[in-house]
Amino acid sequence: MTISQAAGNVCTASALNTKKHQTTNPVESEVICLPNTDCAIKPQACLSAFTSYRVGGAADLYVAPRNLEALQASLKYAKERDLKVTTLGAGSNLLVSDRGITGLVIATRHLRFSNFDPDTGQLTVAAGESIPSLAWAAAELGWQGLEWAVGIPGTAGGAVVMNAGAHNSCIADMLVSAQVLSPDGTLETLTPEQLGYSYRTSLLQGGDRIVTQATLQLAPGADPAKVVAITKQHKKHRLSTQPYNFPSCGSVFRNPKPYTAGWLIEQTGLKGYQIGGAQVALLHANFIVNRGGAKASDIFCLIRHIQHQVQERWSINLEPEVKMLGEFQAACG
Ligand SMILES: Cc1cc2nc3c(=O)[nH]c(=O)nc-3n(C[C@H](O)[C@H](O)[C@H](O)COP(=O)(O)OP(=O)(O)OC[C@H]3O[C@@H](n4cnc5c(N)ncnc54)[C@H](O)[C@@H]3O)c2cc1C
Repeated sequence: MTISQAAGNVCTASALNTKKHQTTNPVESEVICLPNTDCAIKPQACLSAFTSYRVGGAADLYVAPRNLEALQASLKYAKERDLKVTTLGAGSNLLVSDRGITGLVIATRHLRFSNFDPDTGQLTVAAGESIPSLAWAAAELGWQGLEWAVGIPGTAGGAVVMNAGAHNSCIADMLVSAQVLSPDGTLETLTPEQLGYSYRTSLLQGGDRIVTQATLQLAPGADPAKVVAITKQHKKHRLSTQPYNFPSCGSVFRNPKPYTAGWLIEQTGLKGYQIGGAQVALLHANFIVNRGGAKASDIFCLIRHIQHQVQERWSINLEPEVKMLGEFQAACG
């Protein structure tokens, strides 16, 4: 199964309502239309709108392909120009530097497709599908297995890469296979074993392969009302224990077993601690929230401050779960 091909119109800059931007490189100052696709590469695209923290500078170049062919054309464009490629899902686990990201940012948000196969109980989805929407759709069909995922505001591709999880379940538990695209344009179908899963990690992290679609094993045939009720319960629990009312990236640090990062941070007295617009959330200490006007550097410095304080008090190194993209200053004031 592949992502469906959109109409092959060649785009125009005016149709995209995109302004020309000044960059040092004249080649990159205007929208670039990829030949034989409806896909446009935009220069100096502000990324703060595409991250759940609502911070971050611009991508040198940004593209959001609508199908596999346009994605392959985008990769080819980058390869021919030796551009660094960064993949962006829903941006819900990212801290993008105020200085932005060099090279080409490929967003998967428009790679959309989902198929619930009643014969196999398998759900096949394109990388850009929203995990909460899939959880609700599965529940309404009476398919069990995704109730835990309703509070994770990412894409299917991001969930496969991050091994997203909650309520003692995670994507690795139900992944049948993931389709990944290499920089040279080749597609492979990989099993969970080949992805080397463990707690919130996979072999795809830090690599250059792009997840294009995933197949999940679910359990059809339950009473939709019951599955919806459990899904609602999970959502309610999340809303009462985590600060969904301010921009964040969810949990900032991995849990250093046997402790939880939130407990360590709270015991260190850091709940409510603030740098600029970034604050250790009052509701859940492993969340840093953007209280308004935060810069990426505020969040970065707060992460460093927490790490330092927890190290001093507990001799434990908190490892960030959030992925940092772009350049950050080495020292915080
Ligand atoms: C309020 C809130 C609550 C959260 N709760 C949870 C939770 O309970 N459990 C949990 O696990 N996470 C949680 N998260 C974090 C986040 O939602 C997950 O990590 C999610 O899986 C990230 O998906 P994404 O599409 O947003 O990926 P992004 O944040 O866009 O990217 C994450 C990483 O994956 C890479 N990537 C993304 N898509 C692809 C792709 N198609 N191919 C290759 N690489 C890709 C990116 O380059 C980056 O390195 C929460 C976040 C928020 C804001």
